[in-house]
Amino acid sequence: MTGGPIAVAGVTVEPGERRDLAPSASESYTGDRTTLPLAAINGAEDGPRLFVTAAVHGDELNGIETCRRLLDRLDPAEVRGAVVVVPIVNVLGVQIGSRYLPDRRDLNRAFPGSHSGSMAARIARLVSDEVIGQSDAGIDLHTAANNRTNVSQVRVAVDDEVAQNLAVAFGAPFVLTAKLRPGSLRAAANERGVPVLTFEGGQPLRFDEDAIDVALRGSLRVMQRLDMIDEAPDPAHQAPMVLNESRWLRADRGGLLELHCGIGDRIVAGQPLWTTTSPLGAERASVDATEEGYVIGATTLPLVQPGQALLHVALPGDRLPAEDDPTDEEDDDPDVLDDW
Ligand SMILES: [Zn+2]
Repeated sequence: MTGGPIAVAGVTVEPGERRDLAPSASESYTGDRTTLPLAAINGAEDGPRLFVTAAVHGDELNGIETCRRLLDRLDPAEVRGAVVVVPIVNVLGVQIGSRYLPDRRDLNRAFPGSHSGSMAARIARLVSDEVIGQSDAGIDLHTAANNRTNVSQVRVAVDDEVAQNLAVAFGAPFVLTAKLRPGSLRAAANERGVPVLTFEGGQPLRFDEDAIDVALRGSLRVMQRLDMIDEAPDPAHQAPMVLNESRWLRADRGGLLELHCGIGDRIVAGQPLWTTTSPLGAERASVDATEEGYVIGATTLPLVQPGQALLHVALPGDRLPAEDDPTDEEDDDPDVLDDW
């Protein structure tokens, strides 16, 4: 609980004050400081401390705009508790339009990080110490990975009831309980007892107005649920669909892809999902759903090869087979390998 001054990155923020900070995150080849943009809002009254982070993956831009709009809405005089907003965590990846850091490491596999480790580890440690560790709850904003798009959804740890309740308040169309991925920001926060909602929405390198709107409403609604603000917008969806398992459905044949469903759709057994044809027009494959589910993510590529992930489908309950690990959470990229 706050109430008095708070310290963020060595700077004291008085009650009722907002300070925009730029702690050193790294350095360029020319030796210039690379800084982490960070806004610390210390409310005039007591309350919990919330963090909001975005662009842990440097090509996931929706969260950056969500943070900008969120900061525009928050008046320190009307906030109870404190909010620390980091619109761009992967400051080096964003510079080059890349999910990864320049050394190809995934920042969301480097938490909690260390002072003496890799570039990723050092940035992760800064965020762990100055942003996550002091907080009572957090929201981490993501989009789908390269060549994919996600319906707006909130992902929470399977056994984290606090986060699940906040996720329902958030008001995205879907809430997905998902295993914690080692090294992720969410896993590091969970280790410290800080419940975190991971929001996923839209595709990389774009601003998706719907996803930004859902995330902005959701962030404010979580603050209201935590009694940090009095007023919050209506939820994007009154009753989120809670999903417990998910997996990617993959192509068996290569060719031109025609999807017969889109993100957010409910599918039922027997329903056509996609057709693959050769460039000369011969049908190569026609795939039907084998069970009921919801499409929470999809490829945006019109050409496919065998093994390519096409649809991310989630089911209420635990009815999916376990052999295809569904928990590629926080990256939505079943093909990304941890190569370090
Ligand atoms: Zn991401």
